[in-house]
Formats: sequence, C-alpha cells, structure tokens
Amino acid sequence: MSEDERLGHAVVGAGIVGICTALSLQERGKQVTLIDPSPPAEQASYGNAGVISTWSCVPQSMPGLWKNVPKWLLDPEGPVSLRWSYLPTFLPWMLKFFAAGREDRIPAISDALLQLHRPTVDIYRQHLAGTGHEDLVRDSMYVFVYRDPAKLNLENLEWRLRRERGVPLEQIDAKSLADVEPDISTDYKAAVLIKGQGRAYDPGAIGKALAEKFEKQGGKLLQARVMALKPVEGGVELQTDQGTKIADKAVLAAGPWSAKLLKSHGLKVPLEAERGYHIVFTDPGVTLNNSIMVTDSKFVASSMASGIRCAGTAEFAGLDHPPDYRRAHVLAGPAKRLLPNLNTEAREVWMGQRPSFPDTLPAIGEVPGLPGIIAAFGHGHTGLTGAPMTGRIAAMLAVGETPNIDVSAYSLKRFGNT
Ligand SMILES: Cc1cc2nc3c(=O)[nH]c(=O)nc-3n(C[C@H](O)[C@H](O)[C@H](O)COP(=O)(O)OP(=O)(O)OC[C@H]3O[C@@H](n4cnc5c(N)ncnc54)[C@H](O)[C@@H]3O)c2cc1C
Repeated sequence: MSEDERLGHAVVGAGIVGICTALSLQERGKQVTLIDPSPPAEQASYGNAGVISTWSCVPQSMPGLWKNVPKWLLDPEGPVSLRWSYLPTFLPWMLKFFAAGREDRIPAISDALLQLHRPTVDIYRQHLAGTGHEDLVRDSMYVFVYRDPAKLNLENLEWRLRRERGVPLEQIDAKSLADVEPDISTDYKAAVLIKGQGRAYDPGAIGKALAEKFEKQGGKLLQARVMALKPVEGGVELQTDQGTKIADKAVLAAGPWSAKLLKSHGLKVPLEAERGYHIVFTDPGVTLNNSIMVTDSKFVASSMASGIRCAGTAEFAGLDHPPDYRRAHVLAGPAKRLLPNLNTEAREVWMGQRPSFPDTLPAIGEVPGLPGIIAAFGHGHTGLTGAPMTGRIAAMLAVGETPNIDVSAYSLKRFGNT
C-alpha cells in the first residue's frame, strides 16, 4: 500500500463535529485526514441558529408533547411538518421519540446532555485561539421570550430540569426585556434569561476557521466520499470515490449520512434527518444582543455577520427529498411580530438536516462489532454545542485514553439492535 493510501487517523465528515474531532486528535499528536466530498462546514454546521448552549439539558421529547403535534402539523406557521408519504418510514422513529419522552427517562438524558454541553464555550475558545477569528464565539444569554406571561411557569418540568441542575436563570418583565433587547416588540411581556452561554456570530465561519487551523497544523483535507468502511488487519479500510485507503482508526462523523455507512454491516440505527430552515434578513435595520428563543413560534433569532437569522422548524421528509423553502419564508411573519422594525425585504433562505436520534442524545463511542470505528454523530438540535466535547471524547477513545466522564449514555448499544 502506497503512502498516498495510508491516512493516519481518518475522520469521515467535515461538519463541526468532524472538525472538532480532527483538532482533538492533533492535540494528541496524531496525523489526521479529514474526508468529505464538500468543503468544511457546509451542511447543518453552516446554517444553524448559532446558540452555543452551555446549559442545554432539556430533551426534545418531553411528557405530553405528542398532544401538540396535530395542532402543529395543521398550522402552516407551526414548528413541525411531515411529508405524509414519508409517514410509514418515519413511524418507528416517531414511536421511539415519544417513548423517550417518558417522565422517568428524562433526568438521565438531561444529565448526559449537560455533561456534553457544559465545557463547550471554553473548548471553542481554545480551538479558535490564534486563528484571528476568536470573535466568532461571543458571550451571550439565551433569552426565552413570551407574549403571554401566563405561559411562563418556572415550575414546569422544562424549567425544573434546568433549575435542579444549577442553570443560572432570571425571570424578567417587559420593561427589563426592553433594556436587554430594545428592538423586541413590547407585546412580549415576560422572558427568562439563561446566563453564561455563547453564541456564534457565523457558525459556518467557525467551522472553516477551525478547518484552516487543522490544515496549518499539518492535517490533510481529502475531498472524497466514503462509500464503505470496515475493520481490517492493522486498521480500518475506507472505500472512497478516490480509491481505497487505510486508516489507523476512523471516526464516523458524517451527520445524518452516518447511518447509511453502518447499514451494510447489518447495523440499524434510528437516525432521522430532522430538517430545519433558516431565513436571514440581510438588511435588517434592527439588532439583537443575544440568542432569542421565540417560545410561541419555536424558532431562534440572532444577529449574525450576514444579518438577522431566524432558524428552526422540524420537517420530516427523508434525507434526499428536495427542500421546501416555504418552511423558511413562513418565519418572516413571526419574525416581524418579534421585531416590528425589521426590514424583511432582503432575505436568504437555507435548509439543513439535523442528525437526530429519538432520545436526543448523540452516538459517541466504538461502533459495536466494528473495532477501530468510532461513532461521533447524531447531535440533533445541539450539534454546534456538543461538537467540542464530542470531538474530545472521540479522540480520546481513538487513541486508547479513558474519558474522565461516564460516556455509556452515548453508546449505540442503547438501541439494542446494533
Ligand atoms: C435550523 C437548524 C438550527 C440549529 N440550531 C442549532 C443551534 O442553535 N445550536 C446548536 O448547538 N445546534 C444547532 N443545530 C444543530 C447543528 O447544526 C447540528 O447538530 C450539527 O451541525 C451537526 O454537525 P455534524 O458535523 O454532525 O453534521 P454536518 O454539519 O451535517 O456534517 C456532516 C458532514 O458529513 C459529510 N458527509 C456525508 N456523507 C459523507 C460520506 N459518505 N463521506 C464523507 N463525508 C460525508 C457531509 O458532506 C457533511 O459535511 C441546528 C440545526 C438546524 C438544521
């Protein structure tokens, strides 16, 4: 085998998870190749809402959530949509999703999310140090805004989970909200501030800055699609559209495409492409100082390099179905209700696919039955947040170090059929 075909450690997928993993492997002295058919951070890692949610610990599936689903599906501005012909494929995942929302399962999921998310801002800052792009991660609060104050109840399970885990919260009224965010409509009568977080000023640019650092430090970017991978004597064989390569170890970080690469080994992992959209108002005329969660419409608004970005919605239509950009444009109505002086004329829209498991947790750890192949995918709504710690854990496992936290909650074994 020629030098060209030996990769050192391979990371499959140059989204934010793969990029952070590649940097953490370099920190451990490894020669690393990052493989992706696209340039770094072009998929979900490009267009997300930019919340670097240090305190994120509330699972997506919560008790009683299913009761809202019919109403959401019928509302064109609602946060969830489904391509009906996709329902038979989607149904098993949906049932697992609702099962994960049983009250007795929530605390363990919540703890596992928090331990992955807590160090995120610190690790991002370490990774960005020396790149000249340090200001892409900014200090921020996460501001949950409510039009109807009666809907804000800190005794609800969602807020109890946070309070019980020491999340620094403050409930404020409309007057204080106007001090924090002067451009938000006075129709919003109450808010909760989650303090001590970060936000991305341009999520895609963070990925690109870190990939550039990776290359400057001697890492290789290989523009190729991995078609199959399997353990072999002395490493992992990767079949790519640029030929067959051998890696010492391989980290699978191909976001929602990861499951396809495990299928040929008979592994069925319940990974769904949970499609989200954004709309950016590129000449907004207003500013936000923090990440804003608009609780009635369930999207996030934030000032970014390109303008005011509103991002959210969950669309279940399958990985390969073309985008339906009406899902993005529909956010203009609630955005204007949030920010009455927002100029909504100049806009850009985008679709990205969250890699989502039914229980909100990602898969991190050696793939059962495939020695040398380490999973690092499935971060759903919080992959920008979970990427730095995931990268660190995946790199530790790849080099045979033992992580100093319990990582069993992220094992693919939890799905039983792997
Ligand atoms: C609308 C929206 C808003 C969001 N908001 C937030 C937020 O505010 N905060 C937060 O923390 N998270 C947020 N997320 C989630 C976050 O964006 C994702 O969880 C995260 O980007 C996933 O990163 P990734 O690296 O796993 O996947 P991706 O970014 O999808 O990268 C996967 C990479 O794998 C590559 N790939 C695929 N197949 C192959 C193959 N066969 N061979 C080689 N490479 C391959 C792809 O080309 C791609 O580059 C949001 C997501 C969406 C859609």
